[in-house]
Amino acid sequence: MNVEKIMQDLTAKHSNEPEYLQAVHEVLESIVDVYNANPQFEKAKIVERMVEPDRVFTFKVSWVDDNGDAQVNIGYRVQFNGAIGPYKGGIRFHPSVNLSILKFLGFEQTFKNSLTSLPMGGGKGGSDFNPKGKSDGEIMRFCQAFMLELWRYIGPETDVPAGDIGVGAREIGYMYGMYKKLAQEHTGVLTGKGLNWGGSLIRPEATGFGGVYFVDHMLKTQNIDIKGKTVSCSGFGNVAWGAALKATELGAKVVAISGPDGYVYDEAGISGEKINYMLELRNSNQDIVAPYAQKFPGSKFVAGKKPWEVKVDIALPCATQNELNGDDAAALIKNGVICVGEISNMGCTPEAIEAFQKAKVLFAPGKAVNAGGVATSGLEMSQNSLKLNWTREEVDVRLKQIMENIHIACVKYGKQADGYINYVKGANIAGFLKVASAMLDLGVV
Ligand code: NDP
Repeated sequence: MNVEKIMQDLTAKHSNEPEYLQAVHEVLESIVDVYNANPQFEKAKIVERMVEPDRVFTFKVSWVDDNGDAQVNIGYRVQFNGAIGPYKGGIRFHPSVNLSILKFLGFEQTFKNSLTSLPMGGGKGGSDFNPKGKSDGEIMRFCQAFMLELWRYIGPETDVPAGDIGVGAREIGYMYGMYKKLAQEHTGVLTGKGLNWGGSLIRPEATGFGGVYFVDHMLKTQNIDIKGKTVSCSGFGNVAWGAALKATELGAKVVAISGPDGYVYDEAGISGEKINYMLELRNSNQDIVAPYAQKFPGSKFVAGKKPWEVKVDIALPCATQNELNGDDAAALIKNGVICVGEISNMGCTPEAIEAFQKAKVLFAPGKAVNAGGVATSGLEMSQNSLKLNWTREEVDVRLKQIMENIHIACVKYGKQADGYINYVKGANIAGFLKVASAMLDLGVV
């Protein structure tokens, strides 16, 4: 495989899709040696077939706002790779959503799902709809209109979407309600469902919990205890919430959390009732970090800045892609950061990753660190198929085991001669090998 040649060809075809090209480049660079050592991959053109989605659907979503005015958004579903199971991946509602972002997410999802060891292919979907400031009625009408198109392309054995940015339990409920009406069936076609209608315990917290379990394993490779370590997180959304809860439970201290307007620093630690207060603000669609600083004396709000300037032991990007750049990485390294666990998808720019690796900081990519979310979605699918509900403990034991296995796989393929673990390489090779072997078995289709 000639990575530069493949990238040139892809760039010529998809020049306006930078996030997608960035994600592909990172994976190809990591797997090139393994790929070239196995000529059967080249013969079957595995990489050329893997970098293009199986299919992409785009559709118009028309809906009526509270003023009675018609609104139009674009909806998408990218079915990226179905070699190892039904397509699986979240739905994102955010004004920044476009095909490049969904293709990068679907591509990453393919490897992430492979790492979980569960039978799930990769997919992603969403819309440029902005849920911010919308009434509950508007959210419901939008979700229903979105599903009115999407339902044709999904099914419990075909493609099983979940939540992502801007899509939580409420949105999944409205979409599921419409799917059920159209398909006249009550099946596990979406994950992240409510507990009363097919959901799994721990699914809401799973991405953050799994992320912290993974970080704990990373620290243990250096005999470092997570207890007493300071942590910063970005973007108090679903993922950051779970991460803050678990980090606190394991004895770490979350001292900084950001919102779109800046970050809050609280030396005493953001835990317990403070986390609950942030959740309350988020659930009622309010700003989070500035009101936090007003309510809790001793904390301070730093307007317009990212949390990466704070001196911490562990940094957890939890908001969105490319949210931590080379300058942010330099600031963290200067302040002695030990470990960076990307819980958002592709949260760090290539410059940031390079800086962490050069400084031998423990760094692991989203496809490994945040795989607990989709893994628990896979566990929700298993429960739906079995028509059983597992207890919180049963789900947590499985989640922990899956995160440990992913860590083991990353070490197996990412450990360098000097002992440093290149988790990017490890995750990419482990995720790739399973999908590539399945593609070989399935023939050229
Ligand atoms: P939420 O919508 O719950 O929260 C996202 C947070 O990030 C919000 O604070 C949001 O602020 C901020 N944010 C979103 N987009 C941008 C942007 N373009 N620029 C700056 N800030 C932004 O999403 P999740 O917590 O579910 O997801 C966070 C990350 O984790 C994403 O990268 C997602 O793909 C990834 N992930 C999520 C999983 C899940 O289970 N939910 C599973 C695996 C990965 P605001 O609301 O102001 O825009």
